[in-house]
Amino acid sequence: MIVPQFEYLVPQSLQEACALLGQHGSKAKVLSGGSDLIVKMKNGLAKPDYLVSLKNLDELKGVRYEAGTGVIIGSRTTHNQVIANPILREKYPSVCAAAATMAAYQIRNIGTIGGNLVNAVPSADMPPILIALGAQARIVGTAGERVVRVEDFFLGPGRTVLGQDEILAELVIPDQATTGSNYVKFGLRRAGALAVVGVASSVTMAGDVAKDVRIILGAVAPIPMVAREAENVLRGKKVSDDLIQHAGKVAAVESKPINDIRGSAEYRRNLVDVLTRRSLKAAIEKGHV
Ligand SMILES: Cc1cc2nc3c(=O)[nH]c(=O)nc-3n(C[C@H](O)[C@H](O)[C@H](O)COP(=O)(O)OP(=O)(O)OC[C@H]3O[C@@H](n4cnc5c(N)ncnc54)[C@H](O)[C@@H]3O)c2cc1C
Repeated sequence: MIVPQFEYLVPQSLQEACALLGQHGSKAKVLSGGSDLIVKMKNGLAKPDYLVSLKNLDELKGVRYEAGTGVIIGSRTTHNQVIANPILREKYPSVCAAAATMAAYQIRNIGTIGGNLVNAVPSADMPPILIALGAQARIVGTAGERVVRVEDFFLGPGRTVLGQDEILAELVIPDQATTGSNYVKFGLRRAGALAVVGVASSVTMAGDVAKDVRIILGAVAPIPMVAREAENVLRGKKVSDDLIQHAGKVAAVESKPINDIRGSAEYRRNLVDVLTRRSLKAAIEKGHV
């Protein structure tokens, strides 16, 4: 449980940080809040020779709104800063609510939204709601900047599209006419527990009709999973209780859960059914669960 030796590098700009990552290749790792990485290092699961700290890169911190672009969240923004941010509270309270389901206050004070995505564990709480809201990831590397949908960011457990010299800089939630969105999480305790299943949904209603529907499942597949067949049950249809019930069942069938210490595959499928219905109902009623 002792952190192995490493060289601590503190770049003063994003460009310098990317250059250091490029220079040291697979021997280097980005350090943000350290709530995942330092634990892994203590457990011998990661042994980087260099840690490239983002601590002096203030441009990666905070939330702003740009008309025509949307809400922009810096990757170094901590979960507690997300929860308290007035722009997010007004425009996307579902993002604040998802952050509030995570860990304990102390961890939320150091853990960042960027670290939660790049760590890429299947049970991570922030990816489903960001995908449901169509968020994009702004990635900066030595060769410049690129933008990918958060939906396309994950390749497998612990693996993302980030190259060795790339840093997740910002998350952009584009302006949208979503009626309601939310994230519903089931953990083995009420607080401080990882998701056994998490479901995020966003719904855009036109009168009684669900014009658009997004349903994203967490912790039931190697990466956050879009429940496309369940979305199609509702998309373009007049919403009814029966249809919502059906969407829950379809989401459960298309989910790909595994058995692990937090729950069996069968238990998880049942949870997907229940949480999908709960999440959709709340999104349609513009509320939170
Ligand atoms: C007790 C405890 C409880 C927890 N509970 C939850 C929970 O309920 N839900 C949940 O989802 N998570 C939970 N976590 C996991 C963790 O707190 C979060 O994933 C957190 O958001 C990670 O952010 P960080 O800044 O600490 O990341 P770090 O530990 O600094 O980094 C994590 C990984 O991402 C990379 N990285 C970080 N930022 C960037 C960036 N901007 N660009 C490129 N690479 C980057 C690092 O190199 C590392 O590989 C918990 C952790 C602990 C210790």
